[in-house]
Amino acid sequence: MYLHIDMDYFFAQIEEKRRPMLKDKIIAVCVFSGRTEDSGVISTVNYPGRALGIKSGMPIATAKKKAPPADSIFLPVDREAYTQASMFIDGIIRKGCDKVVQASIDEWHVEDSDAIQKAPKIKEEIEKKSGLTCSIGVAPSLLGAKMGASKCKPDGLLILDKESEEKLISGSDVEKVPGIGKKTGEALRALGALKIQDISKIDPGNLVETFGRKTGSWLHELSLGEYKSELGEEKEQEEVSRIGTLKMKTRDSYILLEKLSDLEPEAKEWLMEKKKSYKTLTIIFITEDLRTHTKSTTFSHPLPWNSSTEAEKKKLIEEFLSENPMMIRRIGIRFGNFLDLGGQTTLF
Ligand SMILES: [Mg+2]
Repeated sequence: MYLHIDMDYFFAQIEEKRRPMLKDKIIAVCVFSGRTEDSGVISTVNYPGRALGIKSGMPIATAKKKAPPADSIFLPVDREAYTQASMFIDGIIRKGCDKVVQASIDEWHVEDSDAIQKAPKIKEEIEKKSGLTCSIGVAPSLLGAKMGASKCKPDGLLILDKESEEKLISGSDVEKVPGIGKKTGEALRALGALKIQDISKIDPGNLVETFGRKTGSWLHELSLGEYKSELGEEKEQEEVSRIGTLKMKTRDSYILLEKLSDLEPEAKEWLMEKKKSYKTLTIIFITEDLRTHTKSTTFSHPLPWNSSTEAEKKKLIEEFLSENPMMIRRIGIRFGNFLDLGGQTTLF
């Protein structure tokens, strides 16, 4: 059996959790392009915002017209916070299951013979430990699991057996099936197939001719209820970071450096295990207003995992303190811009 685990309105839910007093307000996480105050698009919006027709990809200015200013908040993407939450949830899922592939920052694909028993436990564990809800689909195929999860959103769990899986997929509108894009959906409609089951009436040769061999035969199989599942390859992690909360808000560079020395070994252990060297070192500052700021250095050549970062860290912290008057609440370190060392760990 397969599981598809999908966090509910992930970025906006994290922001909601950080600001419980905003729970019933419209929370939109935005990618601000910076050209004018409202340039950019909505990344994620919570359900009260969706109810007003605000969606991902919508221009911020359009969304603001739909949302009463007193009841809404438009926040910038806090990549660090979402990555940390994602890594934390990834750990929970991997502890419980064997074959896990993280499909995106907030989605996981799992193959597990014990999926039906495990699914409710994983869901509960994620909510208990992270405070965030997710939706899980369980089905004999990954496609069924994906469609199951989106059907039961938000905060849902849907377990499908072979029969109900086939019913869900074959009765679905063609463009609602993951893997069928807008163009393919339109072409299928033009051929008279509105639902997946209708595709079976189209001659397979015609499908191959219209969509090419790979997509054509996939569509044909889909219409017959044959769903192949592959977990796929895990995406290479491109950076590693650790963030910690300071005991007290501070601007004392000594305390900040000390906190970083606590966090750094864990990130470096990862670099060592994966045999990575890095070119970019970033210090992450979360100020008392909950905003995230970063300061980075990119070196001209890759550094091995065990190289000293003391001088750079100090420099980056001082730079930040001289530019920003706020107290710091959390601090973190990130290594990125990797180069594989292969077996040559002693190259440097
Ligand atoms: Mg999601």
